Amino acid sequence: MKITKYAGFPYHLWNPYTPMSKFTAFLGMGTTVLTRAEGLYLYNAQGKKFLDVNSCTWNFALGAGREEIIAAIDQQLHELPFASVWGMSHPRAIELAARLVEITSGNYTHAMLGSNGSEAVEAALKMARQFHRQSPDPADHGRYKIISLRGSYHGLGYGAVSAAGKLEYEEKFGPLMPGFVQIGPPYCYRCPYQQSGYPECGLACAKALEETILAEGPESVAAFIFEPVMGEANVVVPPPEYYPLVGEICRRYGVLFIADEVTTGFGRAGKLFYSQDWTIQPDILILGKIISGGYLPLSATLASEPVFERFLGKDRQFLHGSTHSGHPVCAAAGLAAIDIILREKLPENSARVGAYMKAGLERLQSKYDFIGEVRGQGLMIGVELVKDRVTRQPFTADELFEVTYDLVERGLLVSLDTLRLFPPLTLDEPTADLVLKIIDQSLGSSRVEKYWRLASDLIMAKLIPPKVKLGGNRNAK
Ligand code: PMP
Repeated sequence: MKITKYAGFPYHLWNPYTPMSKFTAFLGMGTTVLTRAEGLYLYNAQGKKFLDVNSCTWNFALGAGREEIIAAIDQQLHELPFASVWGMSHPRAIELAARLVEITSGNYTHAMLGSNGSEAVEAALKMARQFHRQSPDPADHGRYKIISLRGSYHGLGYGAVSAAGKLEYEEKFGPLMPGFVQIGPPYCYRCPYQQSGYPECGLACAKALEETILAEGPESVAAFIFEPVMGEANVVVPPPEYYPLVGEICRRYGVLFIADEVTTGFGRAGKLFYSQDWTIQPDILILGKIISGGYLPLSATLASEPVFERFLGKDRQFLHGSTHSGHPVCAAAGLAAIDIILREKLPENSARVGAYMKAGLERLQSKYDFIGEVRGQGLMIGVELVKDRVTRQPFTADELFEVTYDLVERGLLVSLDTLRLFPPLTLDEPTADLVLKIIDQSLGSSRVEKYWRLASDLIMAKLIPPKVKLGGNRNAK
């Protein structure tokens, strides 16, 4: 491939999840190279301003210029730039773990710190298996299977991609790990259990957890891991009854209940932690992203007392950790970010402005036939675009790119694959109005409407059959 140049430098950077030839063809344009940030805005090298409604990678949620975080980082760099937490400790890691235990539901007693969500997820998966391996009951020692929601995103490790169970991963770098089993997600708009709607469905998606545990053999199942609101799957929000039901099923069969709140945590979904008031509390809670406001890499895996206790005693320590686990500078950034989130009541703001924005998007839904559904909790909102409201035929990847790229050209920083809004938690109503106005203008533009009209005309003329993919219960083991 011919090496492109950017500002005199040969472009040797390999961007994650990025089609490189298409990307380098656009290099320097739009949001491909960002050079400066101010509040909720990011600027490219030409000085064009973008309102970031994706919080970069859903993490940069407190805005730029947070002097408190910058000062905490600076002070820590002077005081102790690095110390390990392998068989030793330092004040910031101790303080951060204590703070996390204090602000979560009261169900957790210990926090293992990491550098990103993927690492925290791998910790949880290994923790679940080692927990059972060290059970006083030998009948538990064969518990190794991890059940998850098909299409979930838990990170980049082989454990996480095996949990996601996506065909694409299997095809590109399979075989995925054995011992991972998926059930259909609580995705009411396209119910994987062919139900016509909630509550008539009787929560078939939650009951599938029990059926799968029984089919696999409860003595072989270690844990159920799930995102309380699925992010990558374009914001799948289960009915509220889902959580106590799956929690109760986990308890009944001795299966660890793991909530991956890497995305929903710290106010993103309208509560400080989405699972904080569930009647059945997760045994393990996974946190990341907004934990440091995106200023430095940080994550945490929290364990309840019964989980932690299983790792006490000779040769029972948890065999997990990485070089930068509990990095003092990242921990300092985390402590400062958490102070801001609590002091500025950002979870409450997320709930209020999120509801406001969702209502605005629902108004756009009555204007544009190709908005199939608007879903969300707090400032985690997905807009599902369809070619036909009856068949619910989804937009293709190329069509979604057209729609989202149009938004970027109009100054909204969104991801280029699906229409979803995960803006900074500090978003206010006037700025939400601006976002809605730009989306309205974009969706109303001939360029975007063209795709919908073309596709729906072809369906009407029966030139292309509607492809409604309702799924099925295909377990990728
Ligand atoms: N879990 C969830 C629910 C996520 O959304 C993500 C990231 N999108 C991860 C885990 C992985 O986190 P990271 O990218 O920080 O490794």
